Amino acid sequence: MIYKNFIGGQWIDSSKGKTFKNIDPAHTDSVVSEFQDSEQVDIDHAVEFAHEAFKMWKNTPAPHRGEILYKAAEILVRDKECIAKQMTQEMGKTLAETRGDVQEAIDMAYYAAGEGRRMAGEVVPSELNNKWCMSKKEPIGVIGAITPWNFPIAIPSWKAFPALVAGNTMVIKPAEDTPWSVCKLAEVFAEAGLPAGVFNVVTGYGTTAGFPLLTNPKVKMISFTGSTATGRIVATTCASHMKPYSLEMGGKNGIVVMNDADIDLAVEGVVWGAFGTTGQRCTACSRVMVHEDIHEEFMEKLVAKTETLELGCGLSSSTDVGPLINEKALNKVDGYVEDAKQRGLEPICGGFKAHRLPNKDVNGWFYQPTIFDNVDINDKLMQEEIFGPVVAVTTFNNSKEAIWMVNNTCYGLSSALYTSDVNLAFEFFNQAETGMVYVNASTIGAEIQLPFGGIKGTGNGHRDAGSSMIDNCTENKSCMIDYSGKVQKAQIDNT
Ligand code: NAD
Repeated sequence: MIYKNFIGGQWIDSSKGKTFKNIDPAHTDSVVSEFQDSEQVDIDHAVEFAHEAFKMWKNTPAPHRGEILYKAAEILVRDKECIAKQMTQEMGKTLAETRGDVQEAIDMAYYAAGEGRRMAGEVVPSELNNKWCMSKKEPIGVIGAITPWNFPIAIPSWKAFPALVAGNTMVIKPAEDTPWSVCKLAEVFAEAGLPAGVFNVVTGYGTTAGFPLLTNPKVKMISFTGSTATGRIVATTCASHMKPYSLEMGGKNGIVVMNDADIDLAVEGVVWGAFGTTGQRCTACSRVMVHEDIHEEFMEKLVAKTETLELGCGLSSSTDVGPLINEKALNKVDGYVEDAKQRGLEPICGGFKAHRLPNKDVNGWFYQPTIFDNVDINDKLMQEEIFGPVVAVTTFNNSKEAIWMVNNTCYGLSSALYTSDVNLAFEFFNQAETGMVYVNASTIGAEIQLPFGGIKGTGNGHRDAGSSMIDNCTENKSCMIDYSGKVQKAQIDNT
């Protein structure tokens, strides 16, 4: 099946008619679908429609906008299973994980739809008699969204639903590895009755289809999630065009296991944080700090549990860990492991590629879940985002040292602590330099009503979820109404 771009409510070919293929990462000889390989002219075309539609959409009452988005939520619920299955084929993660991905989209859809009746401004006291001071939220205009492949429908939904309920229109360029989920989202919006031109999808590669969104003057804001390297390009380009931008980028998330922790619980947290979604979550746990008193017992249990994980096609109910997204990712992960081996570090389990798996009908980009122990906190295994099923472990002897280790990275997305000491839990919450902190739970998992995002090299202060999500995509417009009928003195004194 060949998918087209969704522009102005129509499915249309890219200007040059070029397409690219989407491969199933568990069966690399199987093409899932084909998509438009678009360029600047296609982006510009979509932006024109979004720009025109903005005039109507921003004047559509917010409660009505919310009602349309509520219908989209209901359609997502209806189609959840079919979306999850198709997503597993395009992206590789297990069905349980793709169901969770769709559920995050559903949660955001309902949450944002409700904002249509809640989007409050402010009324504040005035310094003068007979004067009102108030502000309201105004949409920004056309928002350009650029999204990654690891949460194919959740992340696009986290960007689209708040932006649309606030009255913005959108042109989205999904990741080249997972465009199907966003094409499906366009179908969902169309069925829900979203007017033509409000939500537009242009597929293609980053430099040819993503970059033109950054420079088009009618795109008034960029909402980006992806790697820190691409985020830097987004930031510098947007800055030179005086365009606001929101960035959610890479992570190097640590779990601390104290000597008073429930060890079995902590092992579960590390296993699913490190190897769930094949380690391809921005919040994946890729570094573990274990108290030296319990190191031996913890490692025995961690390795034993890791060795039970079954690799395979994400559609099979027995699979725990699916393939990596593409060959480049597989080679990147393998490169880190081989480099570590050459530097004298030996993995205590895993550490190799596995294209074909015994007794399984797969041929994909699989990598065995891999653990390195006794890794120096400054080693690249502890510092660089590998984005695969590789975890590095080290020890500490007091909580101060552990917190220092957690913070010793350029990233700042997520961190976790396993302990039974409530005082330490609060101390950790206070001291961890990450946008999100978990206690007795792994570094992964989001709740839509909570702000989601990171600091330092992970983010620029914006949050995609929670109460701040509407602030992200609106301007505050203030209004002062003086009904005294005279020039009041303070108005002359204060400009
Ligand atoms: P990526 O940066 O390679 O690509 C992200 C998007 O940017 C894609 O759509 C890509 O086509 C586009 N792009 C690439 N080059 C571009 C350019 N020059 N101009 C404009 N657009 C361009 O990232 P990825 O490999 O798709 O995703 C994995 C990364 O995303 C990891 O670093 C992960 O940690 C991060 N991530 C972060 C979060 C978060 O919330 N912090 C969530 C998910 C993923």
